[in-house]
Amino acid sequence: MTMLAPSQTGPNGRLARDQIEAVVRAVLARRLAGESSAGLQRSVTPGPTKPNLVVNISARHCHLTQKTVDRLFGPGYQLTKMRSLYQETDFAANETVAIVGPRRRVIPDLRILGPCRDFDQVELALTDAISLGLEIPVRLSGDIEGTPGALLVGPKGSVELEKGVIRAERHVHMNPDHAAYYGVKPLDRMNLRVYGRCPTTLEGVLVRVNPAWKLEVHIDTDEANACDLTRADKVELVKP
Ligand SMILES: [Zn+2]
Repeated sequence: MTMLAPSQTGPNGRLARDQIEAVVRAVLARRLAGESSAGLQRSVTPGPTKPNLVVNISARHCHLTQKTVDRLFGPGYQLTKMRSLYQETDFAANETVAIVGPRRRVIPDLRILGPCRDFDQVELALTDAISLGLEIPVRLSGDIEGTPGALLVGPKGSVELEKGVIRAERHVHMNPDHAAYYGVKPLDRMNLRVYGRCPTTLEGVLVRVNPAWKLEVHIDTDEANACDLTRADKVELVKP
């Protein structure tokens, strides 16, 4: 709505016709200018654009050293790529191993993720661990001191891990631009809101930052199933 300044009113508060025309023309001109710029080119609002949030489910898997791959699959064996992961430096291998718990319970198809790392680590959902008879802690990837081990069995041999079986702590990968957008820094905690038939807020999502990373939340199969993530309407990452 456009208000007329007092100086634009004539005697007795009435507007002269030419003044009214001038005001109306000015309003129309502004509106037309706005429409044309909106139609041809969105006016650029300074500030960061909303990054594309992806939430992926980490099913049980392991990261192995080349030495462990050698013992399970034969000396010099190279893992083969089944598919790239969203963070394209990593891949799901065609190869799987069996994992055996303390009471000889077995999960036969533990997927290996490549490339090889400099330590062995198995990431299970709590449901997997319970079925194996293992009590596992929630840990950030790489923090495996004092965690339980398990027996891995491959086609050419087996390896008794002394440690390294964890439930991976829910976390979000992001680059520094994403961190600036959300106003967070490494090791901060965020909340993941999931909208749908099983609305859920997963709290305490650990922020991990690396310039090479795309924005991606990782949760395990228990967490994803609890909120029926694959059928969710919307996900949102919020700073608590
Ligand atoms: Zn991750």
